[in-house]
Amino acid sequence: MANSNTPDIAAALDEAALVEFTKELIRTPSLSLEEKAVAGVVEAEMRRLGYDQVWQDELHNVVGVLKGSGTGSNLLFNGHIDHAGVGHMAEPFSAKEMDGAPFSHRGKVIYGRGASDMKAGVAAMVMAGGVIKKTGLPLSGDVIMTCVVREEMARGEGVKAVLEAGVTADYAVNCEATGLDVYLGHRGKSEWKVTTMGRTTHAGNPTGGINAILMMNRFLNALEADYPMPQHEFLGDATWTVIDISASPGALTPIVPDRCTAIIDRRFLPEESQEQVRAGLERVIEDLASEDPTFQAEVELNKWFPAMYTEPDSPVVQAALEARRRVLGQAGELGSWYFGVDGTFLNQAGIPCVGLGPGNELLAHTPKDVVPVDHLGKACRIYAQIIAEMCA
Ligand SMILES: [Zn+2]
Repeated sequence: MANSNTPDIAAALDEAALVEFTKELIRTPSLSLEEKAVAGVVEAEMRRLGYDQVWQDELHNVVGVLKGSGTGSNLLFNGHIDHAGVGHMAEPFSAKEMDGAPFSHRGKVIYGRGASDMKAGVAAMVMAGGVIKKTGLPLSGDVIMTCVVREEMARGEGVKAVLEAGVTADYAVNCEATGLDVYLGHRGKSEWKVTTMGRTTHAGNPTGGINAILMMNRFLNALEADYPMPQHEFLGDATWTVIDISASPGALTPIVPDRCTAIIDRRFLPEESQEQVRAGLERVIEDLASEDPTFQAEVELNKWFPAMYTEPDSPVVQAALEARRRVLGQAGELGSWYFGVDGTFLNQAGIPCVGLGPGNELLAHTPKDVVPVDHLGKACRIYAQIIAEMCA
């Protein structure tokens, strides 16, 4: 041990046990709402590794704590133990080791549903607690491992239940797949239902009515022509697209429709409020209505999943970069997820959260769900190093 800040993490890590634990998690099916069995696997591993406190709540969220002396920052790690549906994926719970070449990876990978999203991340973070225990590193702050349920349902039910039960921290690490890069968050996702309103008439006499589909056509064209999207240095640009469209009364009878509904997917930036996004859509409608008084439309919110963003100069981001540099030789590039993660609910609770995890985010929910074996040990060592940076 060189000094208290650099315990011999590599020597304390049992890589074979980490690989086996990851496989056991993958072999244990855990669709959302069906996490009981996998929660048992996680809890047993935390107990085996000697966590100071381990508990499971009635939803089957599992929390393990390494107690600090109470003089430093408390650090929370977050991962989810449910996985997406398997679809027609072959042998989804085999957890077999394969050559990584077909998955664009040099070296071995472990295959199975949830490998990349995110049983590998959960295994690495749980094991990192064991590594810290084994090094005997004295902790000033608590390290809290939260392995939560129902993340794939995208409402944060699992992580919110843990927070509502009183678990909190000064900083957090979300262990979703980032290819071991340091991520700052993601754009928010919203869905808006836009309805244009016309007037029915016989389709044989279309000029007698107001066709809601043609009105929707105007609305979408106006959005394309004049709806500026704000940009973000790390999270990318805000975007919009139309993902569904329907009209009524429908084609059963020859009638000009008086209602047309489009669902707009609008990815937004952290600085955009719900009111601002709504106002942007309403402005396009108002402009069209001022040109043509027969144009009528309304906007309704369907879904809102908050954006996540932690500033690059946050201590937890700096600690993650430093840990990555120590373990992999370079700090790497700052990035962001294209999907949403539970870290956003930690940010909302006032806990700055950084992202770093094993596996390639592009493989999440695909039939090529794999995690490179070498990512496991690297992620685990980086997590242990972040603990050493922040809590020692
Ligand atoms: Zn995930």
